[in-house]
Amino acid sequence: MRRIAAIAAAKAAAALSQRLKVGGGTALPGLLAERIDPDIVPEMARRLGQGSIIVTGTNGKTTTARLLRGIVRAAGLGVVANRAGSNLMRGIAAALAEAARLDGGFAGAKRRLGVFEVDEATVPEAARALKPRLVLFTNLFRDQLDRYGEVEHVAALWRDAVRQLDRSATVVLNADDPSIAGLAQVSPGPVLFYGVEDTSRGSGGLEHAADARWCPSCGSELAYSTVFYGHLGHWSCPTHCRVARPSASVVATRVELDAEGTSLAIALPGGEISAPLPLTGLYNAYNALAAVAAASALGFGTGAIARGLGSFTAAFGRQERMNVGGRRVQVILAKNPAGLNEVLRTITAGGADVDVALFLNDDIADGRDVSWIWDVDFDLLAGKARSLTVSGNRAWDMALRLKYAGLDSLSQVEEDAAAALRRALRATPEDGQLYVIPTYTAMLQVRELLARWARRPAFWEAEK
Ligand SMILES: [Zn+2]
Repeated sequence: MRRIAAIAAAKAAAALSQRLKVGGGTALPGLLAERIDPDIVPEMARRLGQGSIIVTGTNGKTTTARLLRGIVRAAGLGVVANRAGSNLMRGIAAALAEAARLDGGFAGAKRRLGVFEVDEATVPEAARALKPRLVLFTNLFRDQLDRYGEVEHVAALWRDAVRQLDRSATVVLNADDPSIAGLAQVSPGPVLFYGVEDTSRGSGGLEHAADARWCPSCGSELAYSTVFYGHLGHWSCPTHCRVARPSASVVATRVELDAEGTSLAIALPGGEISAPLPLTGLYNAYNALAAVAAASALGFGTGAIARGLGSFTAAFGRQERMNVGGRRVQVILAKNPAGLNEVLRTITAGGADVDVALFLNDDIADGRDVSWIWDVDFDLLAGKARSLTVSGNRAWDMALRLKYAGLDSLSQVEEDAAAALRRALRATPEDGQLYVIPTYTAMLQVRELLARWARRPAFWEAEK
């Protein structure tokens, strides 16, 4: 009875918030459902015939979860999934309640798989409630320090969560990230590693933003034969305990990137697949690789995996293209130094003049502390940027950072978001490409403005 009331309340709240267009948030439906029935997540998750999987990590969870859902659907299964950004317990509760029938069951329950994107700090609680058959870890970077404390704290939470998993649960780990790979030591069940083998994308040295350059076993400094980005690469602990990057069973054997997309060749136990993706940046190659690794661990065939990747459309706002006033506009979320460095490297790789608008906000969802911008290599834009518009409620912090990168003669501060976007569009030649790089809350604002101008639906209508 209580469960039915919880489901009904969540459905009503979700319908109401959509009707009122108060936003794509699922906080209220999930909070209501959990308040009425505190066991809603474990009880409902138990009814998913194919079980649940958790996707977590600092960067790439939304895109990876979306890629994986495409593969799951291509394999003929039904999906229950939380929406982008609603990755706390209440987001999972809302997703389960919305997908359920009013009697508490799921239509086609036998063929339903839960694919949940989970916030880093929520992993222990989500794992206890969902009893997942698989947990996929993408990477661990410094992100929103004021929310979580240090990366070591998150790593410790994850080790405890993995230690308590069921013996039958598989963990899927990024071999190229030392602190993710180290989770294998505490897993009671099967482990599958994925990684990039194509070293043509790598470089010899660590950048400023490298976080986890210390051995997960003994704490001494790691050596890298190749660095892909941040602290991801082919690593080893040469002096002390001699652990090294484990060999991976799902690997990217070829990664080709340009400003429009990525071409990947991935070798996996069942064969090899080639995947063209409408996403740029090595970080997206990792997202695709992670999704393929999880799909492979779940036993999906290469045919379904290739079809699923092919059906992919860019996760909202992470990397979306639209056409506004005759300019191509691409919105790319930036939330930490490693991610933004990779974005800058990708957009400047073509060598041509690039037009860029940076939006820096400091709301809770962005991280209140904006000092991370000092770890970003904005020098990459020197000689490459044609126009550089700076906005957001911390625009002047960004302007100061750009001054130290020698970009002050180029950058123009425009605090008002709409005025900043207009300026950036005007500075971009017709048929040209504008890169809009916002933090999270700025992305919501920018996306709404651009959508209005490009006459596209609001994101919560497009997102599903
Ligand atoms: Zn060591």
